[in-house]
Amino acid sequence: MDAPAEKPEPVRDGESRHVKREILGIADRRKHHTREMTPLRAHVKEPDARHRVYRFRFYPNAEQVEQLSRTFGACRWVFNEGLALRSQAWEQHRVRVGFAETCRALTGWKRAEKTTWLKEVSSTVLQQSLRHLDQAFSRFLKGETKLPRQKRKGRSRDTATYVRTGFSWVEDDERPGTGLLKLAKQTRPLAVRWSRALPAGTAPLRLSVVRDPAGRYFVSVLVEELGGSWPPAFVPGSQEPKAVGLDLGLVSLVTLDDGTKVGHQKLLKRHADKLARLQRELHRKVKGSKNREKARRKIACLYARIRDVRKDMLDQLTTHLVRENQVLVVEDLSVATLMRGASGKGGRRKTGLITAIRDAAWGELLRQLAYKCEWYGRTLVMVDRFFPSTRRCSACHVKGSSLHVSVRHWSCAACGAVHDRDVNAAVNLRDEGMRLYWLAEASLPPDRTMPRLIRASAVKEAMPAA
Ligand SMILES: [Zn+2]
Repeated sequence: MDAPAEKPEPVRDGESRHVKREILGIADRRKHHTREMTPLRAHVKEPDARHRVYRFRFYPNAEQVEQLSRTFGACRWVFNEGLALRSQAWEQHRVRVGFAETCRALTGWKRAEKTTWLKEVSSTVLQQSLRHLDQAFSRFLKGETKLPRQKRKGRSRDTATYVRTGFSWVEDDERPGTGLLKLAKQTRPLAVRWSRALPAGTAPLRLSVVRDPAGRYFVSVLVEELGGSWPPAFVPGSQEPKAVGLDLGLVSLVTLDDGTKVGHQKLLKRHADKLARLQRELHRKVKGSKNREKARRKIACLYARIRDVRKDMLDQLTTHLVRENQVLVVEDLSVATLMRGASGKGGRRKTGLITAIRDAAWGELLRQLAYKCEWYGRTLVMVDRFFPSTRRCSACHVKGSSLHVSVRHWSCAACGAVHDRDVNAAVNLRDEGMRLYWLAEASLPPDRTMPRLIRASAVKEAMPAA
């Protein structure tokens, strides 16, 4: 397929219909008037509702393992076939093929002798696979991504999406928020380990089933929850919003302006020896052998465990921070930039730095803070990256000289205050964040609530004088 920039003449309407029908084997829409082609009607969200995904592990029985494996395979096949159809239509015939047309082609594929096995898989699931293809294509046509690539067994994620018609859900009266979840084309409900309850009385909107590289099965359940902002957090005995400055670092993961330090688990570092050993084992095994597959799975398991432990810790930390405070201030550091900077020259020390940054998972931390502020009615302030949070003295605001990474304590040359490096930075962030907060508040039209996210750059644009 050509790059979207150059736009060759597409063929005329009548001719394109002919090409689609005769050459590409896409049935006419008229033949399908008896059935609704697009089963997925856009779901209208309540104004106060938010979508939330809950993830649970489940343990399929032998029959389900087999059926899911077939489903994952069919999703991949349909995705690739749809991709080939769309690319070929454009390259050879200058005809655009859209989502609805790939769905009609799918009906044809199911009838074809060679591919009757597609019928053993729920058609809504296959249509979702085409939906994903369509989304990938439109991102490509907007110039955001490259042309979607073929999905390959063992390389691409094993996943299948079920819309509301693709599964059944019966809530358990005894234990609300849990229940029986049965997928289309399966005879028994999934054995889900309900590690927590869904909001009682809500029916899942969509499921996606995943088999991770470690061979574990998860179902992600999308539900709609009605808004539940927490009551605002004030400084005790006043109407002033409670604020906290958060300095993210490598020595302590997070330092608060009151001096609290949250250590960080350094999980990758802690497991480094084991990972290295497993990697060496993997490389010794013959490619494509059973033993290599076993070694690969061991590594995947270890990574999965590290990821879970880390995510769990971050979840607890961010929920606590967001509950206790009304305004949370962080530095607007782009993790991607840090990683890039660290990957230049400088060899081993920088490689160590990258591992440390990945290990700290700042990106995940910021993501969680942002969405939890959004949900619970808090404000996250992102202070400009060039704000000298470390060098400035939080007592007298004089900017000192830059500090080497190894310096943990310093004293201000102007006022003599002795600072802990990270606590000082956190105090500076909180002060600067609150300055921006009040600026944003002053420029707010009446009857509007504070935004959930304030970026320094946006405030400056709104108030050039500041
Ligand atoms: Zn000072």
